[in-house]
Amino acid sequence: MGDKQADDSANIRVICRMRPLNSLEKSTGGETCIEYDEKRIFCKVIGTEKPHEFTFDRVFGPNVAQKDVFEIVASPVIESVMAGYNGTIFCYGQTSSGKTFTMEGPDDVNQETKGLIPRMMDRVFETILNSSEDLEFQIRVSFLEIYNEKVQDLLDPDKNNLQIKENKARGIYVQDATEVYVTSAIEMNQVMKTGSSNRTIAATRMNERSSRSHSLFYLQVFKKNLQNDTTTISKLYFVDLAGSEKISKTNVSGQQLEEAKNINKSLTCLGMVINALTSNGKEHVPYRDSKLTRILQESLGGNARTTLVINISMCSYNDKETLSTLRFGFRAK
Ligand code: ADP
Ligand code: MG
Repeated sequence: MGDKQADDSANIRVICRMRPLNSLEKSTGGETCIEYDEKRIFCKVIGTEKPHEFTFDRVFGPNVAQKDVFEIVASPVIESVMAGYNGTIFCYGQTSSGKTFTMEGPDDVNQETKGLIPRMMDRVFETILNSSEDLEFQIRVSFLEIYNEKVQDLLDPDKNNLQIKENKARGIYVQDATEVYVTSAIEMNQVMKTGSSNRTIAATRMNERSSRSHSLFYLQVFKKNLQNDTTTISKLYFVDLAGSEKISKTNVSGQQLEEAKNINKSLTCLGMVINALTSNGKEHVPYRDSKLTRILQESLGGNARTTLVINISMCSYNDKETLSTLRFGFRAK
């Protein structure tokens, strides 16, 4: 690691983003447990003397604008996807650390506070408008959720146990997943809203399920070269991961225990996959050990570009979970 330059063209990047203390935390005596500079994080855990230090490709402080986060985190990945490669952007962190804020924006979202996904939509159609006349694009959007190792369709709640398949023509794909053909950012935004509201409905039925499931918003970009009549297909995934907090196994049983085990398994597996991809050796990459990594197999590693955003809270109340999130991010590098 050492003094490695922030390299925005690297195939796998790990970026840390922190959220500020909220008013409740401030009013009840929460303090900040984080210090940082452009690439380093210092996390102080109550009761320990020395802060833990970590280095990442980038560190975003609590007041970095959504627009700037987009430029660093997503712009290079989108550019590469429009050029024909696959890409994946993840948000990892405990519940309430800012994953959905980063991906979509806050509940009362506006032009300034909108997150990576709505900004991506504008960028994709801007790129298409400015592209050569020899190219013809088609964009299809899907929105899935993985809950308890089951793949569900957020665009069609009746499809609740989709299967992952593989063949020569399509590579790895989710069978029967809804794919909505969109021709503008506005249409794509509508699809995102439909999926998000289905996710929220499911969440109220099954208390806070959204924090225990992974959501995958993705596009397929079909790019046809009219000169030589060839078509490339590339995929861009935005993955809002399940909350990484440790669920006390002593207090839960039945379905909740099953959930806890499955979240743990898929996040651990993701960590192992990224770790295998970033280490130099020809290690076995355990894609098949979870639904998430299996679906993403062709969009992680190889020519694909991956950005892992590690979301943390600055508040002392969250110090232990923050430390564990930072360790996950550091191991992924
Ligand atoms: P998660 O999806 O990880 O559970 P959220 O994205 O829902 O967390 O964020 C929790 C709360 O913190 C929300 O009210 C959100 O608007 C707020 N928040 C998150 N990140 C930031 C930030 N960088 N600046 C200001 N508020 C934030
Ligand atoms: Mg969330």
